[in-house]
Amino acid sequence: MASTILAVRSALAVVARHIPTTIFTFMIVGAILYCVHVRKRNENLSLAGFFRFCFPVEHWFTSSTRVDVVIYLISKVTQKVVTLGCQLGMTLLVSWIVLGFKNHFHLTAPFHESFLALAIIVVLVFLLTDFAEFLSHYVQHRIPMLWEFHKVHHSATFLTPFTTTRFHPIGNLIDGIFMSTFIIPAVVVAELCFNLSLVRIVELNAMVELFFTFTLLRQLQHSHFRISFGPLDRIFISPLMHHVHHSAKHEHWDKNFGSRLSVWDWLFGSAFLLPKSEPVRFGLGTIEDERGDYSTVKACYVRPMTGFYQLLKAEILHSIAEDRPELAKRIEAEQHEPALSRAS
Ligand SMILES: [Zn+2]
Ligand SMILES: [Zn+2]
Repeated sequence: MASTILAVRSALAVVARHIPTTIFTFMIVGAILYCVHVRKRNENLSLAGFFRFCFPVEHWFTSSTRVDVVIYLISKVTQKVVTLGCQLGMTLLVSWIVLGFKNHFHLTAPFHESFLALAIIVVLVFLLTDFAEFLSHYVQHRIPMLWEFHKVHHSATFLTPFTTTRFHPIGNLIDGIFMSTFIIPAVVVAELCFNLSLVRIVELNAMVELFFTFTLLRQLQHSHFRISFGPLDRIFISPLMHHVHHSAKHEHWDKNFGSRLSVWDWLFGSAFLLPKSEPVRFGLGTIEDERGDYSTVKACYVRPMTGFYQLLKAEILHSIAEDRPELAKRIEAEQHEPALSRAS
């Protein structure tokens, strides 16, 4: 009984600590947009109108949003475990590389910690982290076995700030591995050249991340507010650009992979700008939407595993079939099943 009370208290503490920060920007920007909306239509401001504008009942009280909220709460634990694991792995690897360099070349840091040193490392870590996230996202769309896990994020049929954490833990792990691996060179340079510790770099990076979260309205990438940055869409990902990424329309698939910077999408040809007036329907855009394949929390955790297993089995059977043609018939039969993956 005591443990149940403790568990409930911890769960409530998690909700109290995290929900206000998650929807803080959402409410502030929602209030501004509501004022503009009311002024355009010559209507009167009202509290009920504000809540109707920010939380449209027909969308917020759906299975998609319910799943978002539950996964958001579960991810508070799963995401922490994944992040800690990746950071531990990165710390061990960085220590091993730095010690190796120091012992082999008898190196001591040639520069002292200064504002310039911190600025160089912060910019380097920011660029590497953002590119790693872009690449991880691209890979999860392009490799069918990884797309099975990323589908969970795209199965949301309406975007709320809670959709930000709607990921399978394996998806979180893939992102964590990419980001940890990419920032290792910057951390090694920081330690060898400026004697900056990993903890200091992580702290600085967290501050930069917080700054961009608020200035780029990252919480609103997953919301129904259609905000474009105009000409700045060429540099940063606006909420409207991320709406395109979640669009069920075929021509919008595999566009706007970026998290903060859109420059990677412009460089690699995946950027797509949408006129503000054009409506977007969110979802996978496959038969899975109509069947509601990801409309429960259980399905969001189990389906990616079974999908991954089936694709892996087909892949293994293919390679075996080259030596044993009698298996070819079985593979052919499996290939006649309806294609559910939109990953190419
Ligand atoms: Zn995606
Ligand atoms: Zn998203």
